[in-house]
Amino acid sequence: MSSELSDSLTIWYRENRRDLAFRRTRDPYAILVAEVLLQRTRIASGLPYFERFMARFPTVADLAAASEEEVLKAWEGLGFYGRARNLRRAAKAVMRDHGGRIPGTFSGLRGLPGIGDYTAGAVASIAFGEAVPAIDGNAARVLARVFRLGGDFTRGEGRRRLMAIASSLVPAMEPGTHNQALMELGSTVCRPKAPRCPACPVHSLCGAFAEGRPEAYPERREQKPVPIVRVAFALAEREGRVLLVRRPADGLLAGLWALPGGEVPPQESETTVLRKALRGIGVKARLGGAIGTVRHTFSHRQWTGHVLRAHVPAMARLPEGAIWAGPKDLRRLPLVPLHRRVLEQSRL
Ligand code: SF4
Repeated sequence: MSSELSDSLTIWYRENRRDLAFRRTRDPYAILVAEVLLQRTRIASGLPYFERFMARFPTVADLAAASEEEVLKAWEGLGFYGRARNLRRAAKAVMRDHGGRIPGTFSGLRGLPGIGDYTAGAVASIAFGEAVPAIDGNAARVLARVFRLGGDFTRGEGRRRLMAIASSLVPAMEPGTHNQALMELGSTVCRPKAPRCPACPVHSLCGAFAEGRPEAYPERREQKPVPIVRVAFALAEREGRVLLVRRPADGLLAGLWALPGGEVPPQESETTVLRKALRGIGVKARLGGAIGTVRHTFSHRQWTGHVLRAHVPAMARLPEGAIWAGPKDLRRLPLVPLHRRVLEQSRL
């Protein structure tokens, strides 16, 4: 079955694949960038970022030499900013430990900081022709349906079973084409809802199709509702500049520039949190009323709250990690996207 499945997939892929910029290259660096950047991102939204990122950092040496701020700026709006920081760390490791060449094996790639099984498998198979699997969510769904895999295959024994099946299917010839075909099929035909089974090149081999219940796989896990967390931010303007602080190096939106403020603990008020935040950077301000609302859903929490006007009598000297940002700074710095929208609405 394994070669029949792989052959059918590969033939279908050659005729049906979407012509995408990152598929026209064998440059391992470009493939690495694409694989990291497009994770958890729809291809249509990620492609312009990929093109801009490659124009801004055309080689691994350029990326390694860039500051974290420059890399975050190129990533602004894509979300999951840990990916950008990891990619830069990986580029630095390539320059430091591998003489500027992207490692050509799965294990070499896996040894780079922040590079997991999926990315290492994708780059090793597509750029270097190593016969290893690359299983993203789309490929996992196809395999779950073809092999009728029940239970949770995102971890533990279920994951090992899925990866064993995936490894057994990868052909020695053109493993990268096989891996991309599996992902493309999941993305365009074997979709989460209403898979297009009659148009599928492997329907005669598919267990879920034979059972007449393709959508029964993978088993749906109960989605826990994300907690709603109150937030408050202060908009302090003075002489055409706005007060910004750099978020901590770890955690949510790490390293991006933001309006002062943050999450509001249940027993505290918005104004208490904002006073503390402003005092923490030595800024005296009188808080006014709310000038806007913020609402943003992350993968694990939802922010909801207000932006309050802060009246600042004088531009205080600021410690490191805080600035009075003028129009040039606002163009140059990576900003929390929902704060950029607040600033645009207030016409800064
Ligand atoms: Fe998916 Fe249907 Fe193809 Fe099976 S036959 S792999 S369920 S699209």
